[in-house]
Amino acid sequence: MRWKIAIVNSATFGAYTGVLERLSKVGEVVRINVPREISGEKLASRLAGFQFVVASTNPRYDEKFFRANTDVVLLARNGIGLDNIDVKAATECGVVVTRVPGEVEREAVAELAIALMLDAARSVSAAYNAVREGRWHERGRFIGLELKGRTVGIIGLGNIGRRVAEILSKGFGARVLAYDPYISEDAAASIGVKLTDLETLLRESDIVTLHAPLTEETRHIINVKTIALMKNGSILVNTARGGLVDTNALVEALKAGKLRYAALDVVEGDYVMPGNPLLQFENIVVTPHIGAYTYESFGGIDECVAEAIEAVAKGEKPKYVVNPEVYEGRVRRLE
Ligand code: NAD
Repeated sequence: MRWKIAIVNSATFGAYTGVLERLSKVGEVVRINVPREISGEKLASRLAGFQFVVASTNPRYDEKFFRANTDVVLLARNGIGLDNIDVKAATECGVVVTRVPGEVEREAVAELAIALMLDAARSVSAAYNAVREGRWHERGRFIGLELKGRTVGIIGLGNIGRRVAEILSKGFGARVLAYDPYISEDAAASIGVKLTDLETLLRESDIVTLHAPLTEETRHIINVKTIALMKNGSILVNTARGGLVDTNALVEALKAGKLRYAALDVVEGDYVMPGNPLLQFENIVVTPHIGAYTYESFGGIDECVAEAIEAVAKGEKPKYVVNPEVYEGRVRRLE
């Protein structure tokens, strides 16, 4: 029997590699687009008859989805973040969930964070917009700051945060602080980073860059109160998840001139359109969640997802399972 594989809301999976042909040996591959806000029940019926799902950052795979859909045996996230997947519900329903290992996207996201940091530090986008609009003579307004000797605060010193720290300290000679309640001072010190509490990091950093996952603990970690602790004229970079930042608080801070610049690859609600309050400012740069968008990273993602699907199709346990406990219960099998 040939299985069915749904690639949901991802235009990039398989677009730059031969992975679709490889997967066609496992089953029929279908690209499916659904509204971002689709309900779990509707999503469940849209994916009826599919055994494998390649899951992007949206829509949400909630408990209702897992309870209502009885066909999917593997949900393979073609990325790192799992915040749109109710992993507990997947486990309870016997669905295996995989993701790609951190190293596949590490370099891509870390380098974009540095690109955004430099854009913000030197007002690259704002200056370019001035040139496009015939305001070359305004160049005197674009006085920047150098990363060398500046203090950069990293919130979340994991896979990506560590690489950002390394580039900043070894490449630019910046002083790097980090806030991460789940790692030890020694682990941070071993890569030249000083671990601090959140308040110290916010008070001392010229640039704050976010690399923590979105959890109940980190949601709106950047809010009215924490922005007030940040240095006047500092920079906020977010390549993690939009929900880490309270957008209203950020808009107010930009309005008040508290922050020099905000540089965001991710925004609350997943995307912004013209007319969004964030886009009224000159001192902001927003990229459309392209952190992992490099040829190298896509190659690694496609490989990992294909391996996971092939393994499950052969009745084997795939690598990078995020809910290994599913195998202790009634894991769904292909039948
Ligand atoms: P990771 O799990 O290796 O690192 C996250 C770190 O955050 C860990 O060290 C963890 O201890 C820390 N952390 C957890 N809770 C925290 C808290 N309350 N305060 C401070 N730190 C906390 O993950 P990673 O691979 O480095 O990825 C980081 C995040 O980047 C992901 O969760 C994902 O949301 C995001 N991401 C974005 C893109 C993009 O396209 N922009 C691509 C990949 C990943």
